[in-house]
Amino acid sequence: MFPRVILKGTMIKKSQQKKRISPSNYKERFFVLDTQDLKYSERRPGKKPMLKGCIQLSSIRCVEIVCSDIPIPCNNKYPFQVFHDGYYLYIFAPDNDCRQRWVRALKEETKHNNLVVKFHPNFWMDGKWRCCQQTEKLAAGCHLYNPDGYASKKPLPELPGPEMKLQDSEQQLVVALQDYKPQGKDSLPLLKDQEYLLISSSHLNWWRVQDNKGNAGFVPSTYVVEKAGNNFERFEWYNKHITRAEAEDLLMEEGKEGAFMVRDSRRAGVYTVSVFTKAPGSSGEKNPRVKHYQIQQSATEQRAFYLAEKYLFSTIPELIHYHQHNAAGLITRLRHPVSQRRPSSPEVADPSKAQWEIDPEELTLGQEVGSGQFGLVLEAAWRDQKVAVKMVREDCMSDEDFKEEAKIMMKLSHCKLVQLFGMCTKRPPMCLVCEFMENGCLSDYLRERKGRLSQNVMLGMCLDVSEGMAYLESSNFIHRDLAARNCLVSKNNEVKVSDFGMTRFVFDDQYTSSQCSKFAVKWSAPEVIRYSKFSSKSDVWSFGVLIWEVFNEGRPPYENLSNLEVVESLNSGLRLLKPRLAPDSVYMLMEWCWKEKPEDRPSFAVLLHEVESLSDI
Ligand code: ADP
Repeated sequence: MFPRVILKGTMIKKSQQKKRISPSNYKERFFVLDTQDLKYSERRPGKKPMLKGCIQLSSIRCVEIVCSDIPIPCNNKYPFQVFHDGYYLYIFAPDNDCRQRWVRALKEETKHNNLVVKFHPNFWMDGKWRCCQQTEKLAAGCHLYNPDGYASKKPLPELPGPEMKLQDSEQQLVVALQDYKPQGKDSLPLLKDQEYLLISSSHLNWWRVQDNKGNAGFVPSTYVVEKAGNNFERFEWYNKHITRAEAEDLLMEEGKEGAFMVRDSRRAGVYTVSVFTKAPGSSGEKNPRVKHYQIQQSATEQRAFYLAEKYLFSTIPELIHYHQHNAAGLITRLRHPVSQRRPSSPEVADPSKAQWEIDPEELTLGQEVGSGQFGLVLEAAWRDQKVAVKMVREDCMSDEDFKEEAKIMMKLSHCKLVQLFGMCTKRPPMCLVCEFMENGCLSDYLRERKGRLSQNVMLGMCLDVSEGMAYLESSNFIHRDLAARNCLVSKNNEVKVSDFGMTRFVFDDQYTSSQCSKFAVKWSAPEVIRYSKFSSKSDVWSFGVLIWEVFNEGRPPYENLSNLEVVESLNSGLRLLKPRLAPDSVYMLMEWCWKEKPEDRPSFAVLLHEVESLSDI
C-alpha cells in the first residue's frame, strides 16, 4: 500500500550535527509528512528536487514545540523538535499556525510509538540544554511529554495494561456514541466519546472491545462506531446518507436559528454544512431558508479545512467546533446540531438529556457568597459536595441560547477551569451549578493579601491561568472577558478561570458593546475595541492585563483614565507601565501580549511554556 501524504510545505531545518565537527547551519527544505516517513528535500529552480533526509515515523520518540529564549538566527521564527534515533532535528516554521499543524500531525502519527516520558522544552546549544543546563545531549528531558497535546504539567495518561502492549498498530479503534451500563457479567461499560479497541466484530449485535485499562467485554454494536479516517458518525451534527432536499426539510422542520448539519456532498470526499437561518438576505433571498456551505480544503496543505477563508483547521470536527462559537463569515453561528439518527436502543431514552439538568431538589442552598452581573451566587450542597449556585435573573440573559451553549461548556473540563456541573432550567430562576471556590475572586484575593505575596506566588497564579487558557485555546473556545475578576481561587490557593464565553449571553448592551460604559475596554485588545474581533489572541491581550493586575496586587488597570482616554493612549502606542513588583522578564511577557497585531502575540501554548520557564528560576 502506498503511504498517504498528510502535510507538505517549505520550512527551515537546522543541521542535526550528527558528528561533533559538523557545522551548524540553517537550510530551507521542502518537507513531506506521509503515513510512513518525514522526508525533506532541496528544491532549486530548474533542477530536480534532491532528497536530503528521510526519518521513519516509527523511529520518532518526541515531537514538540521549542520555547526559545534566544534570538532565532533564521527567517522562520517558530521552532519545533523531532527526536528520533538519538538525534534532535530542529525545524523552523514560518508562523505559529503552521508549527501547530505540523506538531499536531506528527504527534498524531507517532502517538503509539515508544515515546519519551520527559523532553527538553528549550534548545541544545553550545554543549548544554538551555532548559535544565544538563551537559549530556542524550540526558533525559526535564518536562513531562504530552503526546496528545502541547506540553503541559498534566500527569501522563495511564499506562496501557499488558494486553495492550501485545497489540499491533493495525488494530481498529471504536468510539462510544453514548454511555452503556453493562447488563450481564460479560459486558463492558461504555463512556460516551471514549475510545475502545475492537477485539471482535463477528457477532452482529455484540462486539467485543477492550478499554484503556485492558478490561475486555461485549458491548452493543450500535453503541460504537469505527474510528477510521473521516468517520464523523459519533458527532451529532453528521448525517451521512442524506440528500440536499432531505437536509433542507429536516432543518426547516427544526426551525431554530442556527440549526445545522454536516453531510456528504455529491462529490466524494467533500462535505457540506447546511444551516437554517431567519436572517434577512442581502439580495432578497427566501426567508427563512437553508444555506449550504461546502467545506473547503487548502490547495497547499492536505489537512487545512475552512468554511470562511481566514479560519483554517486541521480537522473537520475542529472547524465545526469553532463555528459553533463564532459565525466568522457564516450567516449565523452553528447553534443546534440536527441529526437524522435516533438512539437505536429502546431502553436508552436519550442519555444526553439528563446529564446537564440538575434537579433543584438535590440542592441544599446555603448562604450568599456574592453577587454579579447575572444575579446572586449562593453556597450549596449537591451530591455530597460543596457547589456554587448562580441564580440567573430572568431579564439579564438569553437563556435559550445559553442552555445550548452550556452543554458545550460542560464538556470543557480542566483542573484550571471552574467546572460547570449542570443547570436547573425547569422553572425560573435558571441556576448554574459550578465548582465551589472557597477563596473567591482573584482580584479581591490579591487586594486582601497586599504586601504578602511573593513573586513566585504571583507567577504561580499566572501559570495557573495560562494552563486553563491554553486548554481553552486548544478547544477553540474564546473566553472574551478574561480578567482577574473572572478568575476564582480555590481553598488550596489555586487559581482557575471562570465565566468563559458568558458575555455572549448578556442582554445588557452596556456590557457587550465596546462603545458602552460597562464594556471591559481596559482588558480588551485593539481589534476587539475597533471591530469586536474576538479570538484566542484577543484573550492573550487580556491575559497580559491580568498579569499586570497580579503584579500590582489587584490594582485596577489605568486607574485614573476613562475608557475613551484608554483607547486614545493605546492608539498612540502607549501601554500599561511595568509594575514595581514585576521582574523585567515578566514585563516582557506582558508587552508581548500587547502587540498591536494579533498575529505578533504569542499563543497560550507558548505563554504557558514561557511562564513555566520563568517559574523554574
Ligand atoms: P461576575 O461575573 O459579575 O463578576 P459572578 O456572578 O461570577 O460575578 O460572581 C460574583 C461573586 O460571587 C464573585 O466575585 C465571587 O465572590 C462569588 N462567586 C462566583 N462564583 C463562585 C464560585 N464558583 N465559588 C465561590 N464563589 C463564587
